[in-house]
Amino acid sequence: MQEPLPYFQFRDFPAGLETQVQQALTQAVAGKQYVLGPQVRSFEQEYAAYLGVGAAVGVGNGYDALVIALKALGVGAGDEVVLPVHTFIATVNAVLQVGAKPVLAEPDKYTYNLTAETASRHITSKTKVVLPVHLYGQVCQMDELLQLALKQGIKVLEDAAQAHGAKYKGTLVGAFGDAAAFSFYPTKNLGALGDAGAVVTSDVAVTAFAKKYRNYGEAQKHMSERVGLNSRLDELQAAVLRVKLQHLNALNAERQRLAQVYLQELQNTGDLILPVTAPGCDHVYHIFNIRTKYRNRLQSYLLEQGIRTAIHYPVPVHLQPAYTFLGYKAGYFPVAEELASTSLSLPLFPGLSEAEQMRVVEAVKAFFGR
Ligand SMILES: *Cc1c(COP(=O)(O)O)cnc(C)c1O
Repeated sequence: MQEPLPYFQFRDFPAGLETQVQQALTQAVAGKQYVLGPQVRSFEQEYAAYLGVGAAVGVGNGYDALVIALKALGVGAGDEVVLPVHTFIATVNAVLQVGAKPVLAEPDKYTYNLTAETASRHITSKTKVVLPVHLYGQVCQMDELLQLALKQGIKVLEDAAQAHGAKYKGTLVGAFGDAAAFSFYPTKNLGALGDAGAVVTSDVAVTAFAKKYRNYGEAQKHMSERVGLNSRLDELQAAVLRVKLQHLNALNAERQRLAQVYLQELQNTGDLILPVTAPGCDHVYHIFNIRTKYRNRLQSYLLEQGIRTAIHYPVPVHLQPAYTFLGYKAGYFPVAEELASTSLSLPLFPGLSEAEQMRVVEAVKAFFGR
């Protein structure tokens, strides 16, 4: 059998990136300031400038970014937050963490994202925030979502953990909402070498809140203005992120190039449903998701050929054991449930070689007998 092909692997792409990262780490070590030092401050400025937002506040991870942003927007007990049922568990967990009620909404059948239409069915007088997730790397249709929020007088928090650098009608993800949460988990499109995250916003009150809340609520050293937590972006991770940010557009372009190869090669293959992008909505392919009713058999077949794949996500949020108390039942979200049973994520990462990708393509075609 051939060498196993991983679903994801870190590669030195663009060539020389690993050396640049190591140099940045060496410099940060030599700088001898390891918490909220110059690397964090510079990364915050550079990331905010890249996105075109007022400020970025570096935090410990993407989950904390969601929690801190929700708190900063004043979400708490008695409030409802509308979010998609088809997402990573962090999104719903964060809403519960701040004591609010997560209200789940179906994804759109074609884009797999929350839309104004699906969200609007769940808006009540208690809704404080709508929380769209730019899933798999495709931007949500933001015009309609922003209009809905404006009309209803509610705030928008973007979960941008899968879509760094993606644009919608010329504006970058993270610049639409009252706030946005980013994760820099290593495998994300912009990834650190460990956990890291950021809250971004153009609202000065949200920025001020996040800067204090991530650091025990301190307005200055030993001056606690409120109860907070410890969720600071690590200085060494910030040094890594500064290097990677310079390559983010190139990394995304490579993901998009690889996606185009799959889209071209796999069209008209069996009953496969390939990713569709809505007009104006960039896709930066954090995940290349295909769908087939033979998903489980296809996944086993590929594994026999030494090709590893993943499923995002096999069990929808409302059917997770931890979340049954929310009161949803099987059958409540037919679109999300269908996505859970048919979705398969193919290997797609910067540095994936042409030979490796063609191996995946040929194996998928062979499974469908052509
Ligand atoms: C990765 C991810 C998160 C959480 O990020 P962590 O850094 O792992 O805490 C939140 N939401 C979505 C959609 C994600 O993909």
